Amino acid sequence: MTDGVPPSSAPADQADEVVTYEVRGAVARIRLNRPEYRNAQNSAMTYALDDALRRATDDDSVKVIVLSGTGKHFSAGHDIGTPGRDVDTSFDRRAVIWWDHVDKEGGDQRFARESEVYLGMCRRWREVPKPVIAMVHGACIAGGLMLAWSCDFIIASDDAFFSDPVVRMGIPGVEYFAHPWVMNPRAAKEFLFTGDRFSARRARELGMVNQVVPRDELESTVLAMAERIAAMPRFGLALTKKAVNQAEDLMGMRAGMDSVFGLHHFAHAHNAEVSTDSLGGLDARAMAAENKKQAGA
Ligand code: ZN
Repeated sequence: MTDGVPPSSAPADQADEVVTYEVRGAVARIRLNRPEYRNAQNSAMTYALDDALRRATDDDSVKVIVLSGTGKHFSAGHDIGTPGRDVDTSFDRRAVIWWDHVDKEGGDQRFARESEVYLGMCRRWREVPKPVIAMVHGACIAGGLMLAWSCDFIIASDDAFFSDPVVRMGIPGVEYFAHPWVMNPRAAKEFLFTGDRFSARRARELGMVNQVVPRDELESTVLAMAERIAAMPRFGLALTKKAVNQAEDLMGMRAGMDSVFGLHHFAHAHNAEVSTDSLGGLDARAMAAENKKQAGA
């Protein structure tokens, strides 16, 4: 169908990497690669993704970047329960200037970590000066949304679905609170209040997804789009991306996210005060069980 490896598999020589990197012509392919955990994002993956985006930025032969996930899903969100969970590990911070979270406590620790690894990183990736297309199949949940939303646009297969169920934890949405900007505010409320899965088609109707195609046409569609964009001049694309991002921020996105980040951390702190932890005692398994219960209700 196309050259390169398909979205669902990693290049053979990078099978052990949490993020893989491959350049074909003018297109850099970046793949999340923890398929056994539905590409749950630990910090190792976050920093590897940042390295890959930096590499693509620095390579003048790369005009367009495509982000996808190996295995059956794009990403099931932040890692809240795999053996590779590494929330207590220090990495070389680069998204914001703040102190390391590892030797801190309570809100001090959470605010430091989430400012850097979640909100800060997504904002940094949104500003990558080359077009980034999210190629989404399967699950795109919570932290998975943050990755897809920090890309310039989304092309999804018809089996893709999107949800942000963190209201179940008492938390008003994921850290990169783009919901009211990537869809309309009323749809954002339904999305958050119910925690329901929105299909790729529904997401497209709401303007969150640009195109929906059959699963076996996903890669060829995305690569054809990438090639078309690659015909444009590099600097023109960079300035155009900045222009639209600036307009989006003038529509309040950046300031809105900052204000909601405060509510998000208030929710974490409330949870820590009244339950067993900042996630309201809900780990990945408990969340899955609760989501299933609601779907069956
Ligand atoms: Zn959080």
